[in-house]
Amino acid sequence: MIVILKQGHVDTDIDKILGIANELGFKTHVSRGTERSLVGIIGDDSYVSKDVFASLDCVEEVIKVLKPYKLVTKYFHPEKTVIDFGNGINIGEKFEIIAGPCAVESLSQIDEIGAFLKEKGMKFLRGGAFKPRTSPYSFQGLGKEGLEYLKITAEKYDLKVVSEILVNEDIAMFEEYVDIIQVGSRNAQNFKLLQSLGNTDKPVFLKRGYMNTVQEFLQSAEYIINSGNWNVMLCERGIRTFENSTRNTLDISAVPVIKGISHLPLFVDPSHAAGKRELVPALSYAAVAAGADGIMVEIHPDPEKAVSDGRQSLTFDMFENMVENIKMFESARNSKPVGKEEYKSEV
Ligand code: PEP
Ligand code: MN
Repeated sequence: MIVILKQGHVDTDIDKILGIANELGFKTHVSRGTERSLVGIIGDDSYVSKDVFASLDCVEEVIKVLKPYKLVTKYFHPEKTVIDFGNGINIGEKFEIIAGPCAVESLSQIDEIGAFLKEKGMKFLRGGAFKPRTSPYSFQGLGKEGLEYLKITAEKYDLKVVSEILVNEDIAMFEEYVDIIQVGSRNAQNFKLLQSLGNTDKPVFLKRGYMNTVQEFLQSAEYIINSGNWNVMLCERGIRTFENSTRNTLDISAVPVIKGISHLPLFVDPSHAAGKRELVPALSYAAVAAGADGIMVEIHPDPEKAVSDGRQSLTFDMFENMVENIKMFESARNSKPVGKEEYKSEV
């Protein structure tokens, strides 16, 4: 339920609502906006009448949320989520690019990539240290050593690091080594992991499960927020369909759909969607046009020699060229065409 307060309400009105909600055993989330304030009532409210709150003088309206996700929606949190990393670096304001290799292979490899990204004005470095490979015989990642190389490189070039976690037991280690914890497509419905990540305040980069609907994807994000961590970024990375000319099918419609529903920043990963580097720039431009907050893309100094996902990794030259074009698409997007409409979901 969402309790919207009348204009001119006072703080004690909010306290009154929180008190009633508490007594009924609900958790709450208060959002004080410039135009209106609201209290999100969190929990199973199916047996509670709206009148409990609607009868209060300070209340303008009470909305029952019928969707199975609440905290991820703009109804509960009308302001866009911007994740702040300090020193003017954030996610959710301008289009951001997170780039790096599929897997950390050695310190010299990650150093070369870090130096290149810094030179190109990038702020975020990705790299897998724990790799969730479909085959047990494929390279599984350097593990903690990989995280150490990422941290050394991030400090040297002043970059923020994103890396994928596989198991709950590694959370403390990730808190020490990375700036953003990635949950991959294969773990997108590992609810215990999602809940545990709710207990850290590190931003979480949540990829869409490759067999998940938008609703299921948002429910996964709901798990993290409901456990206490609001610093969540979403990432559309392609879903499995009958189409086999690409590795996955980039669900570009998910971008305006999710942006219409949720306040969370939404990224697109064109690399794991396409599976082929030649297709990555076109999908990245589509991501900008569709309204994404950024892309996560795989690059490698010598993709043919990459230990994983070389086929979809961009060369440095391709990346550089793509970044220039993205700037063009971004400025076109910012010029806001007249009549641009935003998708709005029902509550
Ligand atoms: C990755 O980003 O390294 C990765 C494994 O991606 P996904 O989980 O989307 O397959
Ligand atoms: Mn990869």
